[in-house]
Amino acid sequence: MMSEIEKGHASGILAWNPDRLARNSIDGGRVIYLVNTGKIQSLKFPTFWFEATPQGKFMLSVAFGQAKYYTDNLRENILRGIRQKIRRGELSAKAPLGYFNEPRLRTIEPDKKTFNKVKEVLRAFATGEYTLTKIQSKMFSLGLVGKDGKLPHLSTIQKTLTNPFYYGHFRYRGEVHQGSHKPMISKKLFDRIQEALILNGKPRKKRGPKNFQFLNFAVCDECGYSITAERHIKKSGLKFVYYRCTHKSKTQNCMQTRFLREEVLTEQVKESCQKVSLPDDWREKYLERVNLWEKENSQSSNLFAQNLKTELSAIKTKVDRLMDGYLEGGFELVEFQQKKNKLMAEKKDIEEKLSDFERKGNHWLELVRNWIIEANQAKNFVLDNNFSKMKNLIKKIGSNRRILNQRLFVDFKKPWNYLYFLSAESRAHSAGKAKVLRNLRMWT
Ligand SMILES: [Zn+2]
Repeated sequence: MMSEIEKGHASGILAWNPDRLARNSIDGGRVIYLVNTGKIQSLKFPTFWFEATPQGKFMLSVAFGQAKYYTDNLRENILRGIRQKIRRGELSAKAPLGYFNEPRLRTIEPDKKTFNKVKEVLRAFATGEYTLTKIQSKMFSLGLVGKDGKLPHLSTIQKTLTNPFYYGHFRYRGEVHQGSHKPMISKKLFDRIQEALILNGKPRKKRGPKNFQFLNFAVCDECGYSITAERHIKKSGLKFVYYRCTHKSKTQNCMQTRFLREEVLTEQVKESCQKVSLPDDWREKYLERVNLWEKENSQSSNLFAQNLKTELSAIKTKVDRLMDGYLEGGFELVEFQQKKNKLMAEKKDIEEKLSDFERKGNHWLELVRNWIIEANQAKNFVLDNNFSKMKNLIKKIGSNRRILNQRLFVDFKKPWNYLYFLSAESRAHSAGKAKVLRNLRMWT
């Protein structure tokens, strides 16, 4: 409009109020300049009377100034409101999936209809058994649908899986803040989700019928790509199932070209399972010992909790100092945010350890007991030749499952690895039994 006036195509403006013409100082100045140079002959407002006299121009500039003051003030008030909310731990934004914006209190609260469903989805994804597309259909089947009632978007799922809001923090303009809302999951679980995202995050196309026992069980150790299965029929009519590297890497020429026969892989799975299983007589001895520990432990000190509390207050001091340093101009904003986010994550980890400890108390004894029973159970899977149970157990207790030169390697979690690394010789003697027991005492 202004350029039309500058070209001389028009010489007057009709507007509701001067503030409609000038929301910033440049607009206002431009209008006044055009009045001064005679390009604007007339300005008409129903709410404001203007005449091209010195007094009229003065009143116009006051009206423009007022409009600018109003918008500045509004902006400032909104920003102040947001800052105060953030300090109170409230996020000024649309509630993430599983929560809703409480209109009266202006807080974000768990949504009864979806909270537990989203939690179920997050837990499922953390197991590492789901790809994004699999979790997408799980969400759909739980009724967590997109706006159009169809499958939720993969990008939405990705955002959900990486949102720190679910463990009690929230991100605002690149910075992570402590929230005041109810967390859905622990930070530990969140971290597991991030690991699973790296492994399984890429959406995969649907496969044919998955009737291969060990499909998606391991990756190729040389190139890191998945292992696939194939069925071959020999001239004699005998059927064989082979596993091999998919050779998907475009950058690396993987040398793992030999096939691994299913029977061989099966034997190796059985062998691994055998190694992590606990014999019956060990089970009895171990359970007796755990009962003894329980008695000793009842008079244990709170030293552990005290140490965590000290660490926590040290981090709080660090955050305060960092904030001071930033306010005094010691850091750039980005640097400050990175450092603060790191400290906030550490703080959350320790807070969780502490609350775990306070909640569980001597819960570790319970964990040890459960493990003893579970490890003893593994022995039965081996005896029964129950391969699907063995496979699921190894998936649950072993990570980084990989195949190199027709051999399976697994990193077993604690305390399973204590058993796994026992030599056959020490397993046969009481020394091995005692060694695992000593490790168990230190485990949690
Ligand atoms: Zn490979």
